[in-house]
Amino acid sequence: LKTLLKDPSLLETRAYINGAWVEGSATFDVDNPARGDIIAQVTDLTREEVAGAIDAAYVAQKDWAQWTGKERANVLRKWFDLMMANQDDLATIMTAEQGKPLAEAKGEVAYGASFIEFFAEEAKRIYGETIPGHMRDKRIMVMKQPIGVAASITPWNFPNAMITRKAAPALAAGCSFVGRPASETPLSALALAVLAERAGIPAGVFNILPSMDAPGVGKEFCENQKVRKLTFTGSTNVGRILLQQAAHNVMKCSMELGGNAPFIVFDDADVDAAVEGAIVCKFRNNGQTCVCANRIYVQAGVYEEFSTKLAARVSQMKVGDGLEEGTELGPLITPAAIKKVQDHVADATAKGAEVIYAGETPQAPGNFLAPTIVKGATREMAVSTEETFGPLAPIFKFETEDEVIELANDTIFGLASYFYAKDLSRVYKVAEALEYGIVGVNTGIISTENAPFGGVKQSGLGREGSHHGIEDYLELKYVCLTV
Ligand code: ADP
Repeated sequence: LKTLLKDPSLLETRAYINGAWVEGSATFDVDNPARGDIIAQVTDLTREEVAGAIDAAYVAQKDWAQWTGKERANVLRKWFDLMMANQDDLATIMTAEQGKPLAEAKGEVAYGASFIEFFAEEAKRIYGETIPGHMRDKRIMVMKQPIGVAASITPWNFPNAMITRKAAPALAAGCSFVGRPASETPLSALALAVLAERAGIPAGVFNILPSMDAPGVGKEFCENQKVRKLTFTGSTNVGRILLQQAAHNVMKCSMELGGNAPFIVFDDADVDAAVEGAIVCKFRNNGQTCVCANRIYVQAGVYEEFSTKLAARVSQMKVGDGLEEGTELGPLITPAAIKKVQDHVADATAKGAEVIYAGETPQAPGNFLAPTIVKGATREMAVSTEETFGPLAPIFKFETEDEVIELANDTIFGLASYFYAKDLSRVYKVAEALEYGIVGVNTGIISTENAPFGGVKQSGLGREGSHHGIEDYLELKYVCLTV
């Protein structure tokens, strides 16, 4: 891997704590899911070492909060510039450990960096408020202050952007950051730390703590009184565990949890545009995103046309190693991820779904699985209630608007949703009726640092991105003054 990088020093395997690179006493292996070979051995921190990092972050935060917004903005901006200057290397590292095609990895680096750019600017705009007093001699002032140490736990599907979406607003607000990256993808996180150090982010303000002991680190984050904020992206199940643990210290929590995104195509949609939207939405990261279309509902009048066109389009997609030119679908992250998709296909076909496309899986050592499309999906199937997180596109047929809204909302999740339609009153009505934090209308891509990303129902708490995103890292303080 080092030989593929213009700057091999970006490939760090040690933890980054209090401005120092720490070996630790043990390591764990990181493999390349496209080849199955081990690409690095990374420091495996113990819970005690994580507690030490929290101590350092606690001290560093006090000083960081004293910096002016502009001072913080300046070093964050440098960090952004360094990420963009090293975009190719960061993408290569990401593809090697995560599997996504190189072009997608580059896109993620730019997307991840965009949060740092955006929140660097926001650091200067953390405005408080004055409120007219409730008595003649009283004045009311509202200050916004950083919460303190923010602890982060992130997944493997976006090894860069899931961290910057949290660290950028945290640092802009004046919080310090301790982050445990997913053990499948620590190298992207550590490369971010290399650049944070070069940008001049002070020691202790940004810390990356690789560890195999996810439950132990999670407990330390929740039980250590020096941590005041927990920010998590991952499954709803783990989110529930963390929320319960965080109750102990009544800690503020942001949770970006699972989704079960409906993708609806109405009779009046531009079917070709809907097919393209479904491709980018369903197959980005080979179906491994929490906003990927999980259930595709198509109205009866365009059902056959859409199904046929989607199958034709997917048949052109190349499955392979993400580092190879032209790959559109990389490997899945683990053999267990393959099994889940296969189980969903088997369950759907056993319950009457018809396979209209089944790609050929390359005979290679990596975790490859070619895409499958089924039609005739129903709500009795596992694909209707569970996130598949892989390259299976199940198509459901529906007749009326009311019916599809009921179907789309019939889930515990409420992250992203999508629909294609032209009728303006339908667009308004359906956008309002979908019980989701995000609605994409005539588009399959909704992610941008400019907008508030987050879910309702059991998909989460809080928002990431936009000017709303920084509020998750700020406390309001009301000061009552007698004059
Ligand atoms: P995914 O399916 O995306 O891996 P998970 O919720 O299982 O979703 O994992 C998200 C992150 O949470 C990963 O970094 C994982 O290691 C971590 N994790 C898993 N279990 C726990 C736990 N009990 N406490 C803290 N972190 C956990």
